[in-house]
Amino acid sequence: MTAITEDDIRARTRALIDEVGASASQVEFRSAQWDAGLAMVQYPEGKGGLGAPPKLQGIVQEELRSAGVTWESMMINPIGIGMGLPTVLTYGTDEMHEKYLKRIFTGEDIWCQMFSEPTHGSDVAGLASRAVRDGDEWIVNGQKVWTSLAHNSAYGMLLVRTNPDVPKHKGLSYFVLDMASPGVEIRPLYQITGDAEFNEVFFTDVRVPHENLLGEVGDGWRVATTTLMNERVALGGSTAPRGSGTISILADLWAKRGPELPDGQRRIMEDRVTRLWIEAEVMRLTTIRARANATTGNPGPEGSVGKLASAELNQKIWNTAMDLLGADGFLHESGYPLDRARPSAFSTSKGFLRSQANTIEGGTSDIMRNILGERVLGLPGDVRVDKDVAWKDIPT
Ligand SMILES: Cc1cc2nc3c(=O)[nH]c(=O)nc-3n(C[C@H](O)[C@H](O)[C@H](O)COP(=O)(O)OP(=O)(O)OC[C@H]3O[C@@H](n4cnc5c(N)ncnc54)[C@H](O)[C@@H]3O)c2cc1C
Repeated sequence: MTAITEDDIRARTRALIDEVGASASQVEFRSAQWDAGLAMVQYPEGKGGLGAPPKLQGIVQEELRSAGVTWESMMINPIGIGMGLPTVLTYGTDEMHEKYLKRIFTGEDIWCQMFSEPTHGSDVAGLASRAVRDGDEWIVNGQKVWTSLAHNSAYGMLLVRTNPDVPKHKGLSYFVLDMASPGVEIRPLYQITGDAEFNEVFFTDVRVPHENLLGEVGDGWRVATTTLMNERVALGGSTAPRGSGTISILADLWAKRGPELPDGQRRIMEDRVTRLWIEAEVMRLTTIRARANATTGNPGPEGSVGKLASAELNQKIWNTAMDLLGADGFLHESGYPLDRARPSAFSTSKGFLRSQANTIEGGTSDIMRNILGERVLGLPGDVRVDKDVAWKDIPT
């Protein structure tokens, strides 16, 4: 088979746009994009891809953006596309691929991730929600927390304990949960932004078919690691065009507010804004370079670099934007629904408040530093006294 080139991908994307039309609906366009193998070019043929190098996906996105296709952002289904797709593709059966993959990509089925629990966020391997086998089904009881988009989701990635008698990492299993199952209760949690972007999810005798298992029984930690590695790349791997995203909001604000500042203050702010612009550009170029070198398959621990750096940069940008606003930054409108697909619709104060979560969601910055220290730099590991103890014997 001859290798697929940049020109092939460009030609195929243009043909797709000509055939479907840039103004087609989200589901219509993305469905055709999936069938054309231009959803995730690195995926196998017939499963949204062409078996091409992952870096060629950038060409597709570039062509879609320049043709004005508004459905190219993964924010239409961020958890499904960023984490659900690669996890199901890696561990799911052909039947699961058929049932779930395309509908995740089109946004017809929104997905959520149910890992964190009230006592287990960073230490997710210690989680306590239980699943007990009953014939061809598992009965799930327990509670999850901070579950983003659970209230909109058709399916959830569910990590539960199936064996309490072995060490914590070895007794977990991973299921696809139909969120409409009887016994699933979703309660909103309100953030400082005023939105209820995430939820508490309670399970009372929820029955999950055994066929919904991803990977093997007891292999949940390995499957979860794939989800988490992809989450970090999804959160930290944006390659939006130069000068777009949060830094563009700061630049616009600087253009409006900068000239009004007293001379001394203006020079200081100019310095801060310029440095952040450079940092954002370096971050963008580094991400493009990382993507160009990426091979087919799931990302490894090095994906935590982008997550760590982008979370901290984003907070610095919003902090500077708030400083530019001065006392006006205290004002913010009420009833502002979160629109993740259009970050430019954020007010500055809302963006600032939302950015506080960046260094927590998807693993805190402390945890990213631990991963990078241990698994990339080979430094001595964190202290883990419960690693070889049966989960049921770990004091809680
Ligand atoms: C906006 C948002 C959306 C989220 N969405 C989801 C979701 O959809 N699904 C989901 O499952 N979870 C979700 N989460 C939860 C998120 O993954 C956890 O909040 C995060 O992993 C931290 O866990 P925790 O809140 O329990 O904090 P803890 O783990 O209790 O940590 C408290 C503090 O201790 C530090 N710490 C903990 N362990 C260590 C260590 N070993 N070394 C050094 N420092 C340490 C942490 O860095 C932190 O500062 C979301 C969180 C947010 C903020």
